[in-house]
Order: sequence, then structure tokens, then C-alpha cells
Amino acid sequence: MTLLLTDIGELTTNTDNLGTLTNAALVIDGTRIAWVGPTSAAPAADTAVSLGGRAALPGWVDSHTHLAFAGDRTEEFAARMAGAAYRAGGIATTVSATRSASDAQLSDVIARHVAEAVSQGTTYIETKTGYGLDVPNELRSAQLAGSHVDEVTFLGAHLVPAGWDADSYVDLVCGEMLDAVAPHVRWIDVFCETGAFDASQSRAVLAAGAARGLGLRVHGNQLDYGPGVRLAVEMGAASVDHCTYLTKSDVDDLSSSETVATLLPACDLSTRQPLPDAQALLNAGATVALASNCNPGSSYTTSMAFCVATAVLQMRMSVQEAVRAATWGGARALRRENEIGIIKPGARADVHVLDAPSITHLAYRPGVPLTHSVYRAGKLAA
Ligand SMILES: [Zn+2]
Repeated sequence: MTLLLTDIGELTTNTDNLGTLTNAALVIDGTRIAWVGPTSAAPAADTAVSLGGRAALPGWVDSHTHLAFAGDRTEEFAARMAGAAYRAGGIATTVSATRSASDAQLSDVIARHVAEAVSQGTTYIETKTGYGLDVPNELRSAQLAGSHVDEVTFLGAHLVPAGWDADSYVDLVCGEMLDAVAPHVRWIDVFCETGAFDASQSRAVLAAGAARGLGLRVHGNQLDYGPGVRLAVEMGAASVDHCTYLTKSDVDDLSSSETVATLLPACDLSTRQPLPDAQALLNAGATVALASNCNPGSSYTTSMAFCVATAVLQMRMSVQEAVRAATWGGARALRRENEIGIIKPGARADVHVLDAPSITHLAYRPGVPLTHSVYRAGKLAA
């Protein structure tokens, strides 16, 4: 079955040759995009839908979330808004709630947040383990997440759980825990930060994951300057996420590497941190992604549109830069930039239609729900 979407007022493709088209159309054949071009040249299809001049763009690629959790951290958030500092240790609260949750409860939390994200235009989602922090709970988090999201990352090295010293826990993560979880995930990640794991512990975790064939991701440079970015680049990680505190040399390292700098502005706002310097990264030629970092402690939002609006209004990215970072950039951070986050023949048919004539409205009308419809792998999902 083919579906023609026609009368697209402004179509953002993220391809070099197509760019941004006006009065555009596209054809979806099953799960893939089959044709892109002007409405006037559109081929016949089994079904045609006029979008009435609305803007369309690739679905959001949310390349960084933590949805395998239970419990609530409203009180911690309220305390932070009353002046308390954010510390990595708040994760422990979610760990105990997650361990106590049933499989059905945990599965329901993941499914609810995925549905919430899709309803706002997200069509591809990565999520992480990291609230189990023992072998059975990391394993079930990976398995349950795998039935709801597109990509799963093993984040056993999220925090040293109570009752462990860091080096013994790193041995567990790199040994028995990795053995159990690796068959269920594509990526391994580590929180390389004061209060979590230092550079040598982080390097050990990444090396163990790489030896099992997993791709590498790093949480780094969130709360202060540190070794996370340097380590990610050195180890060939696909992405280093947060990047709130970067030295000139971190920016240079990123710009001369294949490692994507994934910025998480909703997290910086929710922890009252400064926002990262996106312009320094873009000017240096680094690849930038935007992601939600949806998690119950430091960034409890699934709204990629909020991240885009923040990136434009407060980080001085252009709308085009921010939208590209939240679609193609996320795809690049997941090493899938030829399949998703792009609208071209052969790509997955992930299309986000806005109830607006242009992507500029994402920043011009901040906070307004602008999603008109969402096609995810060719199926109308919202
Ligand atoms: Zn995170």
C-alpha cells in the first residue's frame, strides 16, 4: 500500500540535495519513504492525504532517555527549586523504587512514556537501563525496554549502589552484569562524573563493552569540567552526552572526531545548570544532537519540541540547526543517519506534521502543542 502526503507547505528533509522544499509531497510505501518532490510532480498512490500547507519534518529522534524506572522524585525537584544543589546521588531513590516494582509496573512506565513521546512527534527512541544496578534488575530493565523502544543502552555504570565500593562494582558491571545484559542491548554507557565513575573506571566499563561488540556512549561534563569528553573521543564513542562544561580542548577534540556532542537542555534547566555552548561546538564543526534525557530526577520531560525551543531561544541555535540536531543529529548519535532523522527515498517513513506553516513556529510559539500528525515507520501513530 502506498500513501501520498501532498500539499506540504514546508518539508525539512535533512538531505544535502533536497534541503527544505516548499509545496512538497512524499510517498510512503509500507515502512519506507519511496518518493520526495514537488506536489505538482507527485505520482499516484493508493491513498492521498492533503496536509493543507502544513510543515512536515522527520520525526524527532530522542537519542537519550532513561525510561526504565519506577517511583517519583517530586520532593527532590521541589527541594532543588527551593535552592538545594543537584547531585548524582539522587539516582539511588529511583533505584530502590525500580527494584521494588513488578515487571508489569516497569513495563507500563516505559510504554506510557513512549506513547507520550510519540504523541508529540518522536518516532525513534533510545532508552537506558541504570536504575537496577544489580544483575537481575539490569537484565529485566534491558529486556522490558527492548519491547517498547528502538534502541537499548546498558547503563549499569550509572552510580555505585549502596553497599559497594566503586572498583568492586565496576568489576561486577564489566563481568557478570555485562554477560547477562549484553545480548539484549546495542550500546554501553557510563556516567563519568564526580560522584559517579572516574576516568579509569569509566575506561574499564567502555573497554569491556567494546570487547563484547557494543557501541559506546558516555555521560560526561554535566556538573563540572572533567574527563568525559576526552575519554569518549579517545575510545571512539558514538556520542558524549550533556557537554555542559567544555574546555576549548574538549571542543577541539569533538570537532576533529566522529563523536557526537549530545546536548540535553531540559536537564540543564531542571537542575538550574548553565546551558551548554552550542555555538562553540557548531562553529568548530562538531556534530550536535539534542535529546530529552527524560528521567524522573533531572529532566522529566518527553518533549523534544521544548528542547528545540530552548535551544533556539536560550542557546542561540537557529531553528534549522536545532531541528536538525533533534532529528538528524540524534540519528547520527545512534549511527543511523541514513535510515532515520532524514526524509529521502529508502529512509524509514518517520514523518512529523506540524499544525503550523513552518518549523520556525516551534520556537515562535514555545510551549504550544504543534503536532498535527505523526507517521512512525509508515503507520499513523498520532
Ligand atoms: Zn542521562
